[in-house]
Amino acid sequence: MASASLIPDDPTVLLTIAGMLPFKPIFLGQQKPPALRVTTAQKCIRTNDIENVGRTARHHTFFEMLGNFSFGDYFKQQAISWAWELSTQVFALNPANLVVSVFDEDNEAADIWENIIGVSPKRIIRMGASDNFWAAGPTGPCGPCSEIYYDFTPHLGDDNINLEDDTRFIEFYNLVFMESNRDANGHLTPLATKNIDTGMGLERMAQILQKKSNNYETDLIYPLVEKAAKLAKIDYMYADEKSKASLKIIGDHCRAIIHLVSDGVTASNLGRGYILRRLLRRVVRHGRLVGINKPFLVTIGKASIELMVKTYPQLNIRKQTILNELEREEARFLGTLERGEKLLAELIESNSKYISGEQAFELYDTYGFPLELTQEITEENGLTVDVAGFESAMNAQRQRAKEAKINIDVTVQSVIDKIADNIEGTKFYGYHALEYSSRII
Ligand code: ATP
Ligand code: MG
Ligand code: MG
Ligand code: MG
Repeated sequence: MASASLIPDDPTVLLTIAGMLPFKPIFLGQQKPPALRVTTAQKCIRTNDIENVGRTARHHTFFEMLGNFSFGDYFKQQAISWAWELSTQVFALNPANLVVSVFDEDNEAADIWENIIGVSPKRIIRMGASDNFWAAGPTGPCGPCSEIYYDFTPHLGDDNINLEDDTRFIEFYNLVFMESNRDANGHLTPLATKNIDTGMGLERMAQILQKKSNNYETDLIYPLVEKAAKLAKIDYMYADEKSKASLKIIGDHCRAIIHLVSDGVTASNLGRGYILRRLLRRVVRHGRLVGINKPFLVTIGKASIELMVKTYPQLNIRKQTILNELEREEARFLGTLERGEKLLAELIESNSKYISGEQAFELYDTYGFPLELTQEITEENGLTVDVAGFESAMNAQRQRAKEAKINIDVTVQSVIDKIADNIEGTKFYGYHALEYSSRII
């Protein structure tokens, strides 16, 4: 089946974060499946990985998740043996390079890997719930999972395998045995059917097959990295690590941006619109960091569309809207960026430990600096931002706006604000549950 939109039909998450999301109602028995077995290549965006972009070799905001699904049809044993067959025969990965993980209570999965597939027990790693129990959010369908990792250096041996070591291992395929539903109290009840939900990161498989040292150097993204380098008049291969990271961030975020606009998001200060704005402004800033001193989003936006239009023809139909949005948003930010950067530099200079909430709010409100951008720049200089202070300044402004609105009657905008507020109010749960981390957006 074709990819669903990045905008999910699901109030519990802000964006499509996994291939299973469009199928949630089916897993819950609320909708009939189009077929009992389905495969997809799903566009996904994970904002919880923004800070990993350019830092790890494997994380993106936008990525494509390949998946095979069973709605009450095949289950654990079949899913495992097909995943192995796909990995070792279709993608022709050497079994000596593969390691698998299982949920530590899932003896059945461990047994299948060892006794039916023939994986050495030393290469079957048991892990806890944070890695091997998958859920798309705090409530909803969930289950234990088993993942396949690629081992770049198998000669280091099977003793003391540590899957957290991402210089040696990369997770590329997750098999979720979707058999429970979690309610608001955290209780698990069995789903009516036992299902399979899998996800394989296309960019990660490309990295492995193309023998690159990171996802950004695969043909899925590298043309954009190169384009940005060319605009900056530098050579990626000889650039320092900081510039390389900036070029990767530009390549990554541009793919996310064109798809977000293509799927109907426009930049704003709320919900999905804010994510888009944050990505766009980050691209502009990292462009400046590598020395691009003129507007460039339209140029790199065109290159991004060109790179992906064959797979997503909708990009062609939406091309003008995408480019207009890029042009407008870049111009808007460039108008204040320089003054904001100057102010921030002064603040960093005159404060030894942190930037106050009021100061961060002024940067946000007057100069269009998303809080996270201020944090990023501040942290680069060894300082922090008083986030609680920022939030209270933000709330005070919201309160003033609300009071001002009471006199104007109920307008359409206020209805939109309300909806957007609701969206914003729920936006963090999915990532939180997915990553079991306190770090949000
Ligand atoms: P990781 O532990 O590396 O962050 P994950 O366990 O969060 O990955 P899953 O939720 O299991 O990832 O998603 C299924 C698959 O989707 C992963 O095995 C990986 O191939 C791919 N994937 C997940 N997150 C990303 C990302 N941010 N960028 C690129 N690919 C990803
Ligand atoms: Mg993982
Ligand atoms: Mg995983
Ligand atoms: Mg992750």
